Amino acid sequence: MGFLQGKRILVTGVLSNRSIAYGIAQACRQQGAELALTYVGERFEERVRGFAAELGSSLVLPCDVSDDQQIAQTFESLQSEWGYLDGLVHSIGFAPREAIAGDFLEGLSREAFQIAHDISAYSFPALVKAALPLLEGRNSSVLTLTYLGAEKVVPNYNTMGLAKASLEASVRYLASSIGPRGIRANGISAGPIKTLAASGIKDFGSILKFVEKYAPLRRNVTIEDVGNVAAFLLSELAAGVTGEITHVDAGFSTVTPGME
Ligand code: NAD
Repeated sequence: MGFLQGKRILVTGVLSNRSIAYGIAQACRQQGAELALTYVGERFEERVRGFAAELGSSLVLPCDVSDDQQIAQTFESLQSEWGYLDGLVHSIGFAPREAIAGDFLEGLSREAFQIAHDISAYSFPALVKAALPLLEGRNSSVLTLTYLGAEKVVPNYNTMGLAKASLEASVRYLASSIGPRGIRANGISAGPIKTLAASGIKDFGSILKFVEKYAPLRRNVTIEDVGNVAAFLLSELAAGVTGEITHVDAGFSTVTPGME
């Protein structure tokens, strides 16, 4: 029996079979969880329904996090379909292309800043706030995905780095806010993985090569690596862990590249 047997988990952010959320959904399923997935925009509904079917789920809901009504509707639907939620995975990020390329200041604008922070940072606590009635009283767990660019300068990551720093701070404030209700909040700082979102970052391929060269494990991580840690953090095996950002990055963040 898997360690997520009987748990009901909402996984956002499955867009392709390379999505980190797809790796998380697969790992959770392997551990026995029942899943609901979300999609953004009608043209992706069919595709996400296909992934849901693969994962033994038929609960697929529209949820564009820039729309308060869609957020509210998602949890109203979950309330009537499931009545409760044991886990919520936020695997969502977006920044306008000019804000994740070249010089930080050149790509900076009020609009790009607002969009990056709205979609990539605000949406995590906003989803948790809307999900609260479903999460309460179940030792439930919420999880988001972040990146090293929140802590250190990573070329081209720019405005997204600011949004991820805000997201990481939200993990700690959330943990403090929902901890007394028995709900845990954590983040995974994943190493670079070639996904659709990552392909928006200029020169992403050179980041992958650099990590492979200098990370202690001399490789990049996979969505399976991230998925397995996510399943653990969502489960009661991690009952004592909250407010944490766990690096799943083959150790890259622990070294000073080029100084070995
Ligand atoms: P992906 O392109 O597969 O997933 C990004 C997801 O964000 C998509 O499912 C997309 O639909 C969703 N999204 C974008 N705008 C949205 C909106 N308005 N409402 C709801 N959803 C929206 O790419 P991914 O790399 O799997 O990204 C998932 C998360 O992992 C992101 O937060 C990303 O920053 C983070 N992350 C990625 C890497 C990497 O190298 N790929 C590393 C660390 C962290």
